[in-house]
Amino acid sequence: MNATKNAPRARKFFHQFEGITTLRDGQYISEWKQYTSELAKTPRDPNLWCNRALICLKEGYPEIALMDAKRVLLLCDESEDSIELQKMSYKGRYYYAEALRALGHPGLSASEYEKLEVLPESFDEMTEIKRDEFRKLASTLRQIDDVRIQVSPSEEPENPRNKMLLPEILEKWGLDSGCIVLTYIDFGWFEFCGQYPWDHRPGERISATVLRELQDRLDIASNKKLKVVLRKLPPEMVLESKMTMHLGIEATQNFQFHEHILEEDPFVAAHNHFSDRCEYCTLELVETPGHPRCAVKYHCHNSKCKELFCNRKCYKLAMKLYHKQLCGKNIDTIIHSAQRVRPGWNQSFILVLKLFALAKKRNINPLDIEEIKFLSRQHASPLSREGHLPWDAEYETIYIEILKLLEISLYDIQYDFWVFITLMAIIGANVFNGEGIPRNTLGIFPLTSLFNHRCDPLIIHMDATERYITKDLISEHMELRQKYKRIGCNSFRFTIITLQHVKKGQEIFISYIDSTDDKQDRHTRILDNYGFICRCQKCEADPQSFLNPSVCWNIHYYNDNQLPFQLEFLSLN
Ligand SMILES: [Zn+2]
Ligand SMILES: [Zn+2]
Ligand SMILES: [Zn+2]
Ligand SMILES: [Zn+2]
Repeated sequence: MNATKNAPRARKFFHQFEGITTLRDGQYISEWKQYTSELAKTPRDPNLWCNRALICLKEGYPEIALMDAKRVLLLCDESEDSIELQKMSYKGRYYYAEALRALGHPGLSASEYEKLEVLPESFDEMTEIKRDEFRKLASTLRQIDDVRIQVSPSEEPENPRNKMLLPEILEKWGLDSGCIVLTYIDFGWFEFCGQYPWDHRPGERISATVLRELQDRLDIASNKKLKVVLRKLPPEMVLESKMTMHLGIEATQNFQFHEHILEEDPFVAAHNHFSDRCEYCTLELVETPGHPRCAVKYHCHNSKCKELFCNRKCYKLAMKLYHKQLCGKNIDTIIHSAQRVRPGWNQSFILVLKLFALAKKRNINPLDIEEIKFLSRQHASPLSREGHLPWDAEYETIYIEILKLLEISLYDIQYDFWVFITLMAIIGANVFNGEGIPRNTLGIFPLTSLFNHRCDPLIIHMDATERYITKDLISEHMELRQKYKRIGCNSFRFTIITLQHVKKGQEIFISYIDSTDDKQDRHTRILDNYGFICRCQKCEADPQSFLNPSVCWNIHYYNDNQLPFQLEFLSLN
């Protein structure tokens, strides 16, 4: 099972920019901060955005450079007749193309390079040589994109492209199928360790004040049965962020089998509009007479608003949090993206929209939302795909759409693009799926998120679904649901129940994944979604080997002038 041993490793990802290898050595971070504080004062200065884009490219954050360059293009478009701005726009386009290339979007990047072949008339200093360079690059990127189209899976599972070439790649490299990750055509990759270097929040996450606040909330939700504790991270989990401690939950007393130890309503929940559901608690609104679920649709008081609620209570609570900002807005674009089955964060777009709305209402940075600011973030492990997460080309457009819907300026650094990405990473590591088809309803449960993972959990959460419920728990589950309905609880309420006896002082673990899956499946899911390798007792006792981490992915190229190794061999066939 050591297939990767002799296989060529994917080449280390790095990107050449104007002769400077992008190393994340923090060399440019003080400049980044300087430009950002100037942007707080003069947010519509294209020069500042342009300089910041360059800094981000040099430092190895192409996804941030992408949006900065986009702003340059938008700001310069507004006054076409200025020669200065035409030049700036040209530069902005170049950075934009570079960012797309570094993110693994050769086709999109080629389109931008093709635009650079047309020089503005005023550009006497631009030589033909530069133009030829761009032309050559564009055609190389097109070639790469053509091969990529052949090997990328299609969103329709029946599409023959899904199976094409993969067996050949595996055979050629002697890999097992878990080693290769192919993504959809409009997906790239970006390196993400859970925080940007200028983001000081992770270090402040676990302050004494935060711990006290959390304990107060936990006391109420658990009836003083649980205690929040600081735990030392195992060394293999200490990543770039250098965080050495994390939060966990301990029992303050002995627990019996099937004891209810915590009740929690979602802080924010969302549904992806596959059916009529309450905008606040996501309960499905069925109008069949006699159906056990809520039958009456409570319409928003604004006749132009399409959202529905269970009742006045849900309506009021939604208004208090985020609905005032979203009421009557057309969010079809976001719904459409959220409904697609894709490997990135798109299913959470509506949740992100709501959290941005909430932050705008409070006039704060979305990462400072009190209720969720202590939550951990999804990050890529260096052990899998060399620290990269999928980059969906839609992140760019969805971000702009969210700001537009909320009437937030694209140049307001309080809602900057890195904030959007980090918020998606927070949701990515902490979201719980609820009732309905997968990816249909989701919620954030900040206290439940505090439990750490083990593959043989001490507890499970009972929610509106029966997904995690074993036979012996069904009647208990039904009774509980009826009780909740009778007293008008949030329909998405979680109840955490012990599966084993728990001793006072013991740390309590939940399973982040389906703990009945076999070891390799669990391993892959945990590594890809939570960035660590589970070494719990169940995993260590299982003789099955850990799965080899993925070694390569579609469109992993590093040489600016040549087709990458794997694509070379494909084109020879
Ligand atoms: Zn409701
Ligand atoms: Zn209801
Ligand atoms: Zn409304
Ligand atoms: Zn495990």
